[in-house]
Amino acid sequence: MNHDRSRDLYDRALSAIPGGVNSSVRAIRPYPFFVQRGDGGHVVDADGNRYLDFVNGYGPLLYGHDLPDQVQAAVQSAVSEGPMYGAPTEVEVDLAEFVARHVPSVEMTRFVNSGTEATVSAVRLARGYTGRDKIVVMQGGYHGAQESTLVEGDVEDHGPSTAGIPEEFAEHTLPVPFNDFDAIHEAFEAHGDDIAAVLTEPLLGNSGIVMPEDGYLETLRDVTEDRGALLIFDEVITGFRVGGLQCAQGKFGVTPDVTTFGKIVGGGFPVGAIGGPAEIIEEFTPSGDVFQSGTFSGHPVTMAAGYESLKYAAENDVYEHVNELGEKLRRDLTEIIHDQAPQYTVAGTDSMFKVMFTREGPDATEGHCEAGCEQRPDCPRYDYCPKNAADVADCDTERWERLFWPAMKERGVFLTPNQFESQFVSYAHTEEDVETALDAYREAL
Ligand SMILES: *Cc1c(COP(=O)(O)O)cnc(C)c1O
Repeated sequence: MNHDRSRDLYDRALSAIPGGVNSSVRAIRPYPFFVQRGDGGHVVDADGNRYLDFVNGYGPLLYGHDLPDQVQAAVQSAVSEGPMYGAPTEVEVDLAEFVARHVPSVEMTRFVNSGTEATVSAVRLARGYTGRDKIVVMQGGYHGAQESTLVEGDVEDHGPSTAGIPEEFAEHTLPVPFNDFDAIHEAFEAHGDDIAAVLTEPLLGNSGIVMPEDGYLETLRDVTEDRGALLIFDEVITGFRVGGLQCAQGKFGVTPDVTTFGKIVGGGFPVGAIGGPAEIIEEFTPSGDVFQSGTFSGHPVTMAAGYESLKYAAENDVYEHVNELGEKLRRDLTEIIHDQAPQYTVAGTDSMFKVMFTREGPDATEGHCEAGCEQRPDCPRYDYCPKNAADVADCDTERWERLFWPAMKERGVFLTPNQFESQFVSYAHTEEDVETALDAYREAL
């Protein structure tokens, strides 16, 4: 593959943009390929190389790069009527009503412009609503580039995970390991009266893919309810992907108080949202006392793209298609791993998938999870599969990033560039694409 033009573009970018990119994860070494355009389930780079795209914008693209005609038409029409107004439009109401109709915990939604903005607002809302300061988060959980959640450590000893955040901010954030039943009880024993909310992804989607153990989300629900704290599900990745239109909360049957959305709900345009029962969401200004505002919030182009995308998914076989391909990928990858690298773990659900380079596996694999780790205690891999972010960090992450990712890229398959970020199947992908990907895995693993 020739990368001359990408190389030249990165040369220019390094002088004009810090690190040459506008989001840190894109800074693939030695330099990223620059995308020229999308083409269905593929992207084409600046040198004309074509890749099967399982990054899908890191999650927002349910349809890949081929928007259904009615989505395309709604977007074009919103753009041509003038991009935005600073006054409400009908399509915001359409989308909010659609979300309320399909997502179990949601009556009302406030739209914002990014997942980060959604989690910032949700944390402020929880603090304002409960009159408490502390929030519990999962170690290795990701809630965007925000002060309250860029925190590492444990309940008793924690601090900012990046420069630029005062220690005092981190003081109010209590990180616990995902899937650790004791740790959540201990956090509430030590700080229960001060905890405004538990904020978690329903499955870890930014730290490998780690499914909740049986009963874990229910435990979070029970503890928060008992102690007067809110349960916030960050469904920025899982929303309108895992569990289809009912989202992960519907799939897992656990109803949070507040849900944050992003990615798919904007149909590929910048978006975030905070949803929940009216009693809580109306705490936002102007109906309530928790300040929340945004020049671009409820942007007509985004709202049109989001509404038409979700409506299309409701009326067509979109989730069947992506989930079937996801299942096939995970099932066949499990077979490949069985033959070639039995210590590795295949993870994911619905249209999410990832191979995690776990360092040890069982001798016998009979009766194991067949299409992605489900954290089933009777699975022979159970003692080896990652249960939390620390387990994922213990994987052979260097091999994944330095050897495996480039080998897949050379074979024309674009994966997220490290062990940690999820990969996604889109509606534009075909069975043939999946076979192509599986062949690449066979050669690269
Ligand atoms: C992507 C993501 C975010 C941040 O969303 P941005 O739009 O990048 O700000 C927050 N939470 C989760 C779970 C995400 O996957």
